[in-house]
Amino acid sequence: MAIVAFNNVGKQYPGAESLAVTDFNLTTEDGEFIVLVGPSGCGKTTTMRMIAGLEEHTQGTIEIGGRDVTGVAPKDRDIAMVFQSYALYPHMSVRDNMAFSLKLKKYAKADIKQRVEDAAEVLGITPLLDRKPRALSGGQRQRVALGRAIVRQPQVFLMDEPLSNLDAKLRVDMRAEITKLHRKLGVTTFYVTHDQTEAMTMGQRIAVMKDGIVQQIDTPNNLYQQPANVFVGGFIGTPAMNILAADVADGSMTGEGFTLTLDAAHKDAAGARDRLTVGIRPEHLHLADENADVEAGTKGSRLRGEVEVVEPLGSLTMIQVRVGPTKVTAQIEPHQQVAMGDFVTLTCGADKLYLFDPQTEQTLIGIDAGVADKPAA
Ligand code: ATP
Repeated sequence: MAIVAFNNVGKQYPGAESLAVTDFNLTTEDGEFIVLVGPSGCGKTTTMRMIAGLEEHTQGTIEIGGRDVTGVAPKDRDIAMVFQSYALYPHMSVRDNMAFSLKLKKYAKADIKQRVEDAAEVLGITPLLDRKPRALSGGQRQRVALGRAIVRQPQVFLMDEPLSNLDAKLRVDMRAEITKLHRKLGVTTFYVTHDQTEAMTMGQRIAVMKDGIVQQIDTPNNLYQQPANVFVGGFIGTPAMNILAADVADGSMTGEGFTLTLDAAHKDAAGARDRLTVGIRPEHLHLADENADVEAGTKGSRLRGEVEVVEPLGSLTMIQVRVGPTKVTAQIEPHQQVAMGDFVTLTCGADKLYLFDPQTEQTLIGIDAGVADKPAA
């Protein structure tokens, strides 16, 4: 186990005009599970490869367990990696695959046997130890790949999209297993994914990256409730947050097809701005109901438009409504009958509006669902 610290870390590939990673700063807790998430090309893999020592960082310092690892070879960093292509040796048994790196390091036979059997036990693959990889399912192979990493008892695990070769159901099962495994072993782990659901369900803290720059590092709840900017707001949460451009006057925000009422906190946050970028999550929009809305105080907030898509998902229904130039996604109850082509009126509580500065796109006010975590260090 170890604390990993990045201090102003940057990476410029030879010949590249811009930095692949810029000013990365993060100090983990000992044993923390950190997820790096962001769209393709945002620098996730580069960051992992810099921790591993497979790429040199060109700016700043990286410390593992208090040691500056600049110039330290990958094999001497005491880390273990699990990647998307887990490439087991096909001619070797599961046992030999797991033992391979320990044999290379000339561990004693009895020690290797013990480590392999302990790891197999933790992963529930003891009955598979004498099989060859071809006789395993995708999920079992992925467990063996994890086993290969675990036997080394490293200070840090690096996992780069380890589940992306698995089908959807298996991914969900395996992500729960990896989380359990992490809890059991307590090893500091960096996990890369471009899947925000995976990030939210697995990360103790999540670093959201874009164009090589960390946009925000925080707990899943805080990212959801207090996104630092429009990008994070739109990236975290499925379906994505709706983003609307609004004019502000007389305590209301208006745009083509909508009027939203500001409460005192939102007025304060908006300051003297006469334009705002508004974020509304699909789960915070409801079909308007005159009586209920008077009671709930949402009567003044209305978004109106034609329903273009209806997606019944069983426990809920997603609809897409064209509000002026914007496609707005709303989550409604399955019993609420709405058809394509209907004109509907949606509403949203003032306390569920996210406001951003229209120029900088930085947050002005998020929401507080009463479950905010302590601010991250
Ligand atoms: P993905 O989700 O697609 O794997 P990523 O977030 O892991 O993307 P990186 O692979 O770290 O992104 O790439 C970050 C940036 O660095 C990209 O612009 C990429 O083109 C560039 N890059 C990556 N590897 C190299 C390299 N060896 N030489 C030059 N540029 C590179």
